[in-house]
Amino acid sequence: MTGASVQFLRVTSLGSSRNCTPAVGLPETAGQDEDMQKPRVLIVGTGIAGIACARALRDAGVTARVVDRGRRPGGRMASRTINGRAVDLGAAYFTAEPGTPFAEVVNGWLARGLARPWTDTVAVAGPEGIQRHSTGPMRYAAPLGLRELVVDLARGIDIEQGVTVDAIPEGYDTVVLAMPDPQARRLVPIDNTSEWIPSIAVVLEGATREWAPFHAAFVNEHPVLTTLADDGDRRGDGAAVLVAHTTAELAREHLDDPDGAIPEVVAAVKNLLTLDDSLAHTFAHRWTFARPAAQHPEPFFLADGIGICGDAWGQRSAVSTAWASGDALGRAIATR
Ligand SMILES: Cc1cc2nc3c(=O)[nH]c(=O)nc-3n(C[C@H](O)[C@H](O)[C@H](O)COP(=O)(O)OP(=O)(O)OC[C@H]3O[C@@H](n4cnc5c(N)ncnc54)[C@H](O)[C@@H]3O)c2cc1C
Repeated sequence: MTGASVQFLRVTSLGSSRNCTPAVGLPETAGQDEDMQKPRVLIVGTGIAGIACARALRDAGVTARVVDRGRRPGGRMASRTINGRAVDLGAAYFTAEPGTPFAEVVNGWLARGLARPWTDTVAVAGPEGIQRHSTGPMRYAAPLGLRELVVDLARGIDIEQGVTVDAIPEGYDTVVLAMPDPQARRLVPIDNTSEWIPSIAVVLEGATREWAPFHAAFVNEHPVLTTLADDGDRRGDGAAVLVAHTTAELAREHLDDPDGAIPEVVAAVKNLLTLDDSLAHTFAHRWTFARPAAQHPEPFFLADGIGICGDAWGQRSAVSTAWASGDALGRAIATR
């Protein structure tokens, strides 16, 4: 990994020419020196899949242009600074199968203090509250927020944030869509796409940590909640902050108005943790495409100059799957 800083260029739209409107006022290779080899690969998406793809290509000596419409890299590994501390709004944690290439990446983060083992024990809850605790794989968290892990992977790669791609542009051998299928489907007419499930993340803050200790809870058969995480425990700073993720049903009701879900979430969390005191909400975030309803068995899609990768491509929707999918697609493109 080089020490070069990540470039966040501000551009508004990457014009298109293969399918729709002509290119509009964007330097052909923003962020690239004219004397450098022109990129023959465009990667759209700076979530962990897109960045893994870019790194695999770079390691193989292939220059790629990397763009994303968001302000910062990370995608669904999203952290937002609330009251001076990072709160994870998307992925709650990640796992890494020992011995896999992703585990090597994780070991690097652990060695540098960017990630930390959080817990191997999660609570299992039902509508009436926490029922039991279940032990499984180690869940890792990031003291500075999961987004910083993607920022770390992106070091040494020129990325352009604030670039919305609204159709496939000409001039590239391969265009990689490192994003949820429904977003890719807006750009390319592909059949092999899955449906996706929404969720709303609600950040809740208490005056004190008055709940019985737990790390994270999977909430089953609940009309409002699917997961609840103790963010102070996850971050390691002991802040009295919880992050709840809603059911798809509740999210669908409030996709146009995420804040409208807050009262039900607050009531549900108070009931689940038997809290008396008030819980203040500080933020609600809509995930229209939180997770795929079904997985593609293949690790990625690659045909006719279009690559698609991300967490839908592999065994289960997860950070580790998204990384592996992007990495595998990058290596496949490099060997063509
Ligand atoms: C609420 C929630 C909870 C989760 N919990 C967990 C968990 O506990 N553990 C776990 O392992 N995983 C979890 N996940 C899943 C995990 O976050 C994802 O698997 C992973 O982050 C996906 O990465 P990705 O790179 O494939 O896609 P994304 O992170 O979605 O990246 C796609 C990128 O493409 C960009 N983009 C899309 N369209 C365009 C366009 N037209 N032009 C430009 N840019 C575009 C977007 O801005 C985005 O940055 C959770 C996800 C959510 C939402």
